[in-house]
Amino acid sequence: MKKIDLHIHTNYSDGLYSPEEVVQLAIERGYDVISITDHDNIDGFLQVKDYAADQGITLIPGVEISTVHRNRDVHILAYNFDLENAALLDLMKRIYDSRYGRAETIIQKLNERGIKIDIEKVKSYAGRNNYLGRPHIARAMIEAGYCSDKYEVFDNHIGEHCYAYVPKYAPSSEKAIKTIQEAGGVSILAHPYTMGDDRLIYELIAYGIDGLEVFYAKSNDETVYHYNEIAQENNLIRTGGSDFHGEGYDLEIFGHYTAPESVLAELKRGSYE
Ligand code: AMP
Ligand code: FE
Ligand code: FE
Ligand code: ZN
Repeated sequence: MKKIDLHIHTNYSDGLYSPEEVVQLAIERGYDVISITDHDNIDGFLQVKDYAADQGITLIPGVEISTVHRNRDVHILAYNFDLENAALLDLMKRIYDSRYGRAETIIQKLNERGIKIDIEKVKSYAGRNNYLGRPHIARAMIEAGYCSDKYEVFDNHIGEHCYAYVPKYAPSSEKAIKTIQEAGGVSILAHPYTMGDDRLIYELIAYGIDGLEVFYAKSNDETVYHYNEIAQENNLIRTGGSDFHGEGYDLEIFGHYTAPESVLAELKRGSYE
């Protein structure tokens, strides 16, 4: 049986490990097929494309795109797209480029509330290509002793309903789905349970989303069952992954988790049987 993980971050977005380290770790932990799905860029994937092949591990082209639907932050995974498609690369670059000023605004808002973290410090945690995300701000706040873990930071300071939340530019989910498909790729709703409301999922299905990340490592049997039903009823392909970022709990999941082998055939076909 093949060991598979189709949702992994590196330090080219908000993960802790470099793409090379991720590939090494995946080999040590017995994976056969993985996908590096950094947020809004494929630079980490490109970095180790050949290295992974040399090491005998299958690396599926992937990315996790930040989108917005009804004012909600919706993550859409894309797989097997044309790596040189200009529209898709532009879409990612636009999101990516908006992050810098946005991080500065978040830090300003924190500063106003007496949380004295410094943009330079946050930048020192940034991804290899200067990717700045809320997790980097969270790390700086934990390091400075303002919070004990990232959940505390998101719940009280920078989560979607908090005083220091600042949205970044993100395309509509509908536009992202179309752009991925026009680039020959497959679009998948990441961690569907985080949507909270199935009506939103049906709206994405109406936009033509290709699949759901049914086998998400951090969800429970009930949610897997639930989204599996929705996928089957709507002829959607099913994928799965650990959403590895490299912090404590993630390191435990990575290696124990595998997606069922059927995800490979469904991805390849680009449709559910
Ligand atoms: P950003 O793209 O900068 O808005 O940051 C989004 C990232 O922050 C997500 O991909 C997760 O890695 C992380 N994140 C978002 N919400 C939470 C949360 N409530 N708790 C922990 N991490 C979160
Ligand atoms: Fe992330
Ligand atoms: Fe995500
Ligand atoms: Zn992710």
